This record gives sequence, structure tokens and C-alpha cells, in this order.
Amino acid sequence: ASLVTVLFHLGEMATATQSLDEDTFGTLGAELGYQIEMVSAEDEDRELLEAFDIDLEAEEAAESDEMLEPRPPVVTVMGHVDHGKTRLLDAIRHSDVIAGEAGGITQHIGAYQIRHEYEGETRPITFIDTPGHEAFTAMRARGAQVTDLAILVVAADDGVMPQTIEALNHAQAAGVPVVVAVNKIDKPEANPAKIRQQLTEYNLVAEEYGGDTVFVDVSARQGKGIGELLDSVLLVADAELDLRANPDKDARGVAIEANLDKGRGAVATVLVQSGTLAVGDSIVAGTSYGRVRAMFDEHGDTLDVALPSRPVQVLGLTSVPRAGDTFLVAPEDRTARQIAEKREAAERAATLAKRRKRVSLEDFTQALEQGKVETLNLVLKGDVSGAVEALEDALVKIDVGDEVQLRIIHRGVGAITQNDVNLATVDNAIIIGFNVKPAERVTELADREGVDIRFYSVIYQAIDDVEAALKGMLKPEY
Ligand code: GDP
Repeated sequence: ASLVTVLFHLGEMATATQSLDEDTFGTLGAELGYQIEMVSAEDEDRELLEAFDIDLEAEEAAESDEMLEPRPPVVTVMGHVDHGKTRLLDAIRHSDVIAGEAGGITQHIGAYQIRHEYEGETRPITFIDTPGHEAFTAMRARGAQVTDLAILVVAADDGVMPQTIEALNHAQAAGVPVVVAVNKIDKPEANPAKIRQQLTEYNLVAEEYGGDTVFVDVSARQGKGIGELLDSVLLVADAELDLRANPDKDARGVAIEANLDKGRGAVATVLVQSGTLAVGDSIVAGTSYGRVRAMFDEHGDTLDVALPSRPVQVLGLTSVPRAGDTFLVAPEDRTARQIAEKREAAERAATLAKRRKRVSLEDFTQALEQGKVETLNLVLKGDVSGAVEALEDALVKIDVGDEVQLRIIHRGVGAITQNDVNLATVDNAIIIGFNVKPAERVTELADREGVDIRFYSVIYQAIDDVEAALKGMLKPEY
């Protein structure tokens, strides 16, 4: 991985745990000029919260060993399109041991919790109910890490596909353990052994082949193997993760999804990550704020309190937070509002700074000259698959020597989407659009995140520019 990517991950971890090793970060940051601002944005937020008497260090102290209690794992289901992610999430929902028949009547709120009988105990497990890695990536792009463990779904009749690998890369980059669900084993052409064999190439070696990755054969359609899959999730969580949180303090967590409802106003599903969220709490989520007026679980039942790892729908925010926004409880309504307003102002300022901060093709040339980067990450989008392939073929053939490498992290046919921008944000990539244009809100997002999108209608011009950048010879554009 490039140093830039490594650093970005470091930064992300710091956000996720709220404890940042400033020395390490400072040293590394100093080496890569443009990373320093990211740290200071964190610091600013910290200072802002402390100015409002929210003492993050005291909160961290509340995370001392004896205060922590076990919390359920939070799981995301990822994999190639049509491999059965949605169907699997449905089958899991129906397997809830307590709700039984009523378990079928679940509303989509963005996440749900089921209970599973495991080794004589009834154990809850939380699932993020947005299949695919788009949500995962969008949240990571905002610096939030909500997933403890990923289920990688691979259809046994189809095999490992591009998005299987992409999903796996995302999970591995986030340091999240993976359990493989080999799906559609009810199909006559299913070949589960082939999936195991294919995935060894990606360092996922099944236990039965002497590796340490758990593979479970399932049929989401017939509901087969679901219990075993859930057993495996708990097995891996217990063995590899120390999932504990202090329930005995003000809540903190992440917004999973949100929308504006005509009758009820802003409706946000949040995942409580530590502490206990209670009706009546004043909260700030990103730049939105309000008081928790009511809370609902995935069955539409009201809740008075929500414990760690519980997803809950919250009413009472004055505006709609974004997926991946972190939330926290403020001492009073007024403070919540002030924090939200200050954050909004800071965000506006940061947007301007950010525009110059991320890697653009010109920056890359400069950073390369100064020995700061070694990998140019690209996202390729084109109007027809032939063009995307031709472009990719030509790009990977560029001879750039040993110091620098080119990595195409994603390619696809069609307009440039928000997901493309999110991917580029996470991996500090540049987007190359061939005969395609982004929608207006995509341009806005790219602008906000400082992602460089470059448009071409002639392939060799795109190749020339990338080649020039890789050779450190790109002339700045004015
Ligand atoms: P997603 O795109 O990964 O969310 O895939 P879906 O859950 O929408 O499933 C894609 C298609 O495969 C649908 O037609 C499903 O009914 C079908 N499917 C999913 N799981 C199974 C399975 O276990 N067996 C069979 N035979 N079909 C399945």
C-alpha cells in the first residue's frame, strides 16, 4: 500500500477511536505536508467540544477496563451484485430466535438486530441493512468505522467476481475480519469447492484447507446454513475481537441513514457505539442537532434507551444528518445547537482548504518530485466498456520505472457516481471520465471532498496526461 493510503487509514483509525497518538501522527504528517491539516481538523473538533465542556479525555478514561461490558458485533454483508446479499439479509432477519413469526415484520431502518442461540446463550447480533460496499465506503469516507466484521457473499454458481474482490479489499483495508458465505448451494451447478479454491489467491484460505478463514455454505433462498453462519460470526467475533463498551455514560455513535419524513420531520437511524442513548437527550449528529423525542427499533416498537451496538431510529433532529456522521450527547439543547453551528462554519472553511489538499494530477507530479508518493490511484469511468478496457490496457502498459506505480482501484461503465467519488476519497484517487459527465450533486461532492475529476474524449490525451504525471512532468493547468 502507498504511504498515503497507510496514513489515511491511520487517520481513520484515530477518528474511529477518538484517541489519536499525536506524536506519531505529527511526525508522519510532517513528512507528508498535506496530511497535517487533517489532524488539525480533528484537533479543532476536539477543541470545539472541550470548549463546550465535553471532555473527551474524561470520556476516554470512562473506557477503562473495569467499566467495559461486552457488546454485540456489528456486521456488514458485502459481495458482488446478484450474489444474494439482500436475500441473505432477509433470511438472517427471519432467523431471530425470539421474535419468531413476528421477526418477519421488520421495517427497513438501515440496520437491525437479531438474537441467535449460541452455546446455550441468546446472543444479539447487529446487521447493517444496506447490502454492498457503497454504504461501507461512504461511511469510511466520512471517517466512521461502524463494522466489526464483514460477511463476504459469493454465489457458488458464479464464483469470485470483480466486486467480490473490491469488497474484500475494503474489508481488509479497514482491518475487519471476513467470514465467507458461499451462497446458492441449492443450485445444481453450485461448486462451493471452487469458491474456496479461488479465494486462496486472495489470502482467504478455508480452515479445511489449513487456513484460518471461516467458509460457510448457505442457501439464502432456502434458509439453509444461516444458523451455522451466525455461529461463525460469533465464533470469529469472540476469538478475534474484543467487543466491549461502557454503557454507563452519554451515548456516542454514528448515523447510518436518514431522511426527511413529511409527518415526522428528520428521521435518522443511528448506531449507538458506546454509552446509552435515552429519550430526552440533546444530541449533535454532524452539523444537525436536536433532542431525542422518540426512539424506535426495527419492529417499530418504541424504546426509552438504546445500549451499545443497538441501531435505533431517532426522531427530533432539526435537520437530516449524513450517513457516517458521528453523534454525541450534549449537556443541554443550547449546547447541541451551538456545537452544530460551529461545526457547520468549520466545515465550510475546511471545504475550501480541502480543495487544495487532496491529490490532483498536478499535485501528484509535485509530490512525486519531492518523493512523497509512490502510487497513483485511479478510478476509470467511460461511456462504453470497450473504451474503459482500452484505456485501462493502455494505462497499465505505461512504463514508469520502479519508483512509482499506477493502481486502478475501480473501473466501470456509465456516469460518474457518488460512490466513485467516495472510493476516490478513501484511496486518494483521481477519477478519469471518458465521454461521461457526473451529475451535479456528484460534482458538488467531489468539490467538497477535493477529489480531482478529469474528463477526456480522446483516449491518447488521457494516457498522455497520466503518463506525464507519472513521470513527474505534468505542466500545471491554469
Ligand atoms: P444482491 O444483488 O447481492 O443483493 O442479490 P439478491 O439478494 O438480490 O439476489 C439476486 C438473485 O439471486 C435473486 O433473484 C435471488 O432470488 C437469487 N438468490 C439469492 N440467494 C439465492 C440462493 O440461495 N439460491 C438461489 N437459487 N437463488 C438465490
